[in-house]
Amino acid sequence: MPNNTRVRFAPSPTGSLHIGGAHTALFNWLYARHTGGTFVLRIEDTDKERSTPEYEQSIMDGMRWMGLDWDEGPDKPAGYGPYRQSERMESYTKYAEQLLDAGLAYKDDGAVLFKVPSGETITFDDEVYGQISVKSENASVNQDGTIKDIVILKRDGMPTYNYAVVIDDYTMNINMVIRGEDHIINTPKQLLIYHALGFEIPKFAHLPMILGKDKKKLSKRQGATSVFEYNDLGYLPDGVFNFLALLGWSPKDGQEVFTRSEAIKLFDLGSVTKKPAVLDIDKLNHINQEQMKIMDPQELLKIIKPFWKNLGLDINSYSDDYLASSLQAMGGRGQTTLQLAEYSDYFISFDTVKERYKADDIKEEIRPLLKKFYGELLEVADFTPQTMEAFTRTWVESNESSMKEVALPLRWALTGRKVSPGVFEVAAQLGREECRKRLAYYNLI
Ligand code: GLU
Repeated sequence: MPNNTRVRFAPSPTGSLHIGGAHTALFNWLYARHTGGTFVLRIEDTDKERSTPEYEQSIMDGMRWMGLDWDEGPDKPAGYGPYRQSERMESYTKYAEQLLDAGLAYKDDGAVLFKVPSGETITFDDEVYGQISVKSENASVNQDGTIKDIVILKRDGMPTYNYAVVIDDYTMNINMVIRGEDHIINTPKQLLIYHALGFEIPKFAHLPMILGKDKKKLSKRQGATSVFEYNDLGYLPDGVFNFLALLGWSPKDGQEVFTRSEAIKLFDLGSVTKKPAVLDIDKLNHINQEQMKIMDPQELLKIIKPFWKNLGLDINSYSDDYLASSLQAMGGRGQTTLQLAEYSDYFISFDTVKERYKADDIKEEIRPLLKKFYGELLEVADFTPQTMEAFTRTWVESNESSMKEVALPLRWALTGRKVSPGVFEVAAQLGREECRKRLAYYNLI
């Protein structure tokens, strides 16, 4: 039997794709991909003042950056379009008339209002929050506590959110609504409209609130951070994907780092918690680092290249193989792509090394010993980390020196840094001639 699970992500194009939106989109996508269902993108652009085509584009680009592809949407029409609310006016008018004819709505001042009944109990089983029951007279209230009828069509004919969402979810055959917990409060109003129109009710799953590290609601600033800013800050799409998936959910066995296909396989709405999720940047850094480690080196290279360029490094004279193996040689150092690009600069440019390191710490009395050693090291038959290390161990023993004495200045001369991957790994990656050049510059051979 074909799977007919249909979920949707319904952003308003009044801003870019920020963390909250990306989180909701991701959970819908995971659910659709896990169940083999359909993921619909619907643009809720009824706020004419604040909606723009640029934001719509930016949301789509943000989703693409995260790797969240949709099966139906404004650019991918299937049988349930149009996929922008502004293009679906006919159905809003049609059902408003149906409500008016049935006496369940009335006109006032040019607007159409839905009559909120009293004495009914609205109950729904949220897949995450469990059973929620609200008395109809409490579903929509004025400040003084009296029932507030729900405007469904505004004076300008535009539908309101709580009405349009019902018409669209019904006419688009959406059978699972996954969205942020801030919409729990809207659900009873929507259910009243479902009942009034005799529509079949979808399932609902509200996702937990996302808090800042201070355990307070995400500030405008934090919450508004678009996914592209995460790119510029050095986070991989896979890192952000993995991190967001862990906000409110984790696989049953507690696995924290996973690929997309693992996430799809493991995802289960039943394990989503209602406990607010904390946006912890340290954790994002950690997850991002782990994702960089498991990423295909050539793919990682594509992402790192622009960061190197931004650092003013000229990568044109190097082959992709050399650049990718330089990243490999970093051995998982760096939590962000930004850091990885920065930490690995010495594989691309000796100028950066010269700027950082002036060799004024080298005592003249030790120089003859260093020169002798580096001269011989450059002649080892096989310029691999293993051979160099074995050679060095024997050499320091028979020359009454120590690993530290010879390896530390070598690291400084090759990288201009106090910390780096194993110095022989670095030397092997740079190659014999480049090492010779750098040691000669510092008068160490
Ligand atoms: N346009 C609404 C929003 O961005 C959609 C809410 C819903 O998914 O029902 O919050």
